[in-house]
Amino acid sequence: MGVLNPIRDLSDPPKRSFRTVLMGFLLGLGVGGFGGFFLGRTLPAEEPPAAAAVAAAEPAIAADGGSMDGEGPGEAADAGAEAAKDPLADRAIRLDIEIHGSLTASLATRMGSREADTLAAQVSRILVWWFDLRRDLLPGDRLQLLYEPVAGPGEFRVLALLFSSESRGITRRAYYFKSKDSAYGRYFDEQGQEIEKRLENSPIQEYEQITELMDASGRRHRGVDFKADVGTPIQAPFRAVVVRTNWQTRGNGNCLELRYLSSGVSALFLHLDEVLPEIRPGKVVEAGTPVARSGNTGRSTAPHLHYELHGPTGRLLNPFEFHPTVRRALEGDEREEFLRLRQRLDQSLSAGVN
Ligand SMILES: [Zn+2]
Repeated sequence: MGVLNPIRDLSDPPKRSFRTVLMGFLLGLGVGGFGGFFLGRTLPAEEPPAAAAVAAAEPAIAADGGSMDGEGPGEAADAGAEAAKDPLADRAIRLDIEIHGSLTASLATRMGSREADTLAAQVSRILVWWFDLRRDLLPGDRLQLLYEPVAGPGEFRVLALLFSSESRGITRRAYYFKSKDSAYGRYFDEQGQEIEKRLENSPIQEYEQITELMDASGRRHRGVDFKADVGTPIQAPFRAVVVRTNWQTRGNGNCLELRYLSSGVSALFLHLDEVLPEIRPGKVVEAGTPVARSGNTGRSTAPHLHYELHGPTGRLLNPFEFHPTVRRALEGDEREEFLRLRQRLDQSLSAGVN
């Protein structure tokens, strides 16, 4: 397997049996751009898909952190003062659904299909780090969400997520948290460990989220997509020679191919805003050298970097297997802050749901 740096698999959290679960599903959900295409798929669909009946889809979480569904006000009281300062809690919406059919289909029992598509894509981008969603979601699995609308029509941000599969005895939690020195919020598990893995020697440092991974065969998506503002610096991950720039720009947009000198692996960087002018074929660049800026050119529907690797024989490689990877953890004061937020989100998430 031309993989040079075998890494932990994508489902860091234990339970290998389950790990296959969400991964595919998410990818199936078309994280990033292909949402509509895969969303309608159903998984083990012995159950009537429309049966996604569920507990509660309360319209909102009260700003005081308590529930809106008339549970005793006493309970919410002590969380009140704190949560009132939390802008995230103001517009939060709680949702509690049982999965029947695809994630999108399940969500669509509670909202319009467009909203369900969008929200499913968001949820998928979190769950994909744990499960194969295409194969591993089971009827009866339960998803509890706290989310809020954000700028842009039909856009949402998931604030907290609790996924549980009774049949497998598995629970997974994710919380949105923005640390002070980071431009973007990220999802963390209950211990304060980041859920997304990061590439070491990453071609891009500042990005909002990985919106699509490479699937096992590469048939649905051949690389990794990093959602990032237009103009974000792209650097050479490893010492490399520049092979070519800006070919097939209709699809690829501005683009760059590097060949890593120690491994012979070729790396494609697509949809760039620009390749830096000094980056010409034949030039050798050291690891970390700025080579381009990310963009939204070619066949791209939102600003992102598409990063794709091919072994010396042309075989596709998964960047998350080729690169070493890390999962970051919050520490010190920041972890304390996160744990306080988590507590509030947990209260909101479970309010009124038994
Ligand atoms: Zn892509």
